[in-house]
Amino acid sequence: MESLSIRTRLALLIIVSALPAFGLSIYNGLERRAQAERNARTDLTRLAGLAAKRQEEAIEGARQLLFAVAGTADSLRQDPATCQRYFTRLVGGSDGLYHSMGIHSPEGQLICNAVSGKADPNASDRRYFRLAAQSRKFAVGSHQAGGAAGPAGINFGYPLVNGDKKLVGIVYAGLDLKKMNELTARTPLPEGGSLTILDSDGVILARQPDAVGGIGEKERNPRVIEAIRGATNDVFEAEDTGGVRRLFAMQGVGVNPDGGVPLHIAVSIPRRIIFADANKALLQTVVGIVIATLLLLFGAWYGVELAVLRRLRALLAVTNHIRAGDLSARTRFPPSEEDLCQLGNALDDMAQALQKRDADLKQALRELSEQVITDPLTRLNNRRYLWDFLGRDLIRARRAVLPVAAILFDIDHFKRFNDTWGHEAGDLVLRSVADVIRQNVRGSDIACRYGGEEFIIILSEATRTVAVQRAEMIRRDIERMQLVLGDQPLERVTASFGVALYPTHADNAEGLVRAADDALYRAKEGGRNRVYVFEAQPSLL
Ligand code: GH3
Ligand code: MG
Ligand code: MG
Repeated sequence: MESLSIRTRLALLIIVSALPAFGLSIYNGLERRAQAERNARTDLTRLAGLAAKRQEEAIEGARQLLFAVAGTADSLRQDPATCQRYFTRLVGGSDGLYHSMGIHSPEGQLICNAVSGKADPNASDRRYFRLAAQSRKFAVGSHQAGGAAGPAGINFGYPLVNGDKKLVGIVYAGLDLKKMNELTARTPLPEGGSLTILDSDGVILARQPDAVGGIGEKERNPRVIEAIRGATNDVFEAEDTGGVRRLFAMQGVGVNPDGGVPLHIAVSIPRRIIFADANKALLQTVVGIVIATLLLLFGAWYGVELAVLRRLRALLAVTNHIRAGDLSARTRFPPSEEDLCQLGNALDDMAQALQKRDADLKQALRELSEQVITDPLTRLNNRRYLWDFLGRDLIRARRAVLPVAAILFDIDHFKRFNDTWGHEAGDLVLRSVADVIRQNVRGSDIACRYGGEEFIIILSEATRTVAVQRAEMIRRDIERMQLVLGDQPLERVTASFGVALYPTHADNAEGLVRAADDALYRAKEGGRNRVYVFEAQPSLL
């Protein structure tokens, strides 16, 4: 976490802040889905109940019709022509509900029916017939395919019993599946919904919407078949034959004398449709949260850039410059109460203070270095500087094979002068001699106060002749000085000079100064106020 950038941390914070809203909307979405499923179950059960009621009414209608027919059937049995007319009239008056009606003998032989010959010649193996014959009660059959015997339908049977309570026949009515399908189509279905009526064998009798087809075929959905076998009113989820997951509600219709349920209603709706609204709402909420989070992230990303990162980078750059020694660096943030601006202003102030202190320090150092190598009385360089300079100068001269001359001189009888004219007059002499020296040296030469009243001049690239000439000039200029202290003219001052040459007389700094000192000593010996060149046997010029 420590190594993450401010931006990444802020982004994480925003994302973490969005998580509760995200979780809550997912939870709400799931709740809505659960509620939608509960509603769908209720609706489907209600729809299945409605459709079941319609079919129950149809069964009850058939039962009442056959019950009424049974009252007169005994006489019809005897007179086939009247019987056929009778049933033809009934079928015709049923408005297409029944495609066939008639009477079978107790053995199943067709006695008479509405349409001559268009019926089972023998119905003994038909379910409605067997059930009605055995139980002597109204019974509902199962799907009967269309063909020579008439259109597809489902038959109802009712026993005919004579005065001796003997079974004398079974009167039947064949319900037309086309009509059943028409009636089914009147049941209002929700979007994507499907309604199927099946017989007790799972054969499809009617189906809505028609496009689904399969009428007269056995239902292929094993879960539906299972519910028919169990004869349970059930709500369950299963995949249809097209692989679509649907919610089913099943309900049985009617009861046969053997206790079996002759008809089954299956209503279903795709899960996709059940959850469509909840899913849409969830998607909208999630997309809304994601967009809001992205906008926040976007805003934070650029907001941080504008408000923080730009300034932080400037602060960092200035700090790095200062660390590298560039004290002129400044953030130049505008004066403001804003935190980072305050920091920038403080940094600028600090840099300015440091820069000033640095300048003062450098100045002090320059002055100090100057002082370290300067003689305070004469403002000439001091002995320390001589050794430093001479060492370097000789190295340079050796490399370039150039000569270097040293002129060492000492004021004559200076002790006595001091004693006579006072120490102050002595100082005046020293300062005046320094002035003479300054007038007689070039930029590349150096002149130092070597000791109390001893001076040394180093001439780079100077031959013996040049060095001696220069010494002579200085000696003469000193001699000519007319010094006055206050109103008091002072006595004439002279000095004695020793000249030595590198590399002729010495090959190092100490040797050169020693040789010049040796020549100076001999100049003093030789009578003062003169210039001597170092020689093993010193001689007057
Ligand atoms: P010589 O001709 O042999 O050089 O004689 P001298 O008197 O000059 O010899 P010495 O070296 O003994 O004397 C140097 C004198 O210089 C001693 C000291 O009082 C004087 N002196 C040294 N430094 C200063 C200074 O800064 N100011 C003054 N006024 N006198 C100084
Ligand atoms: Mg001296
Ligand atoms: Mg002296």
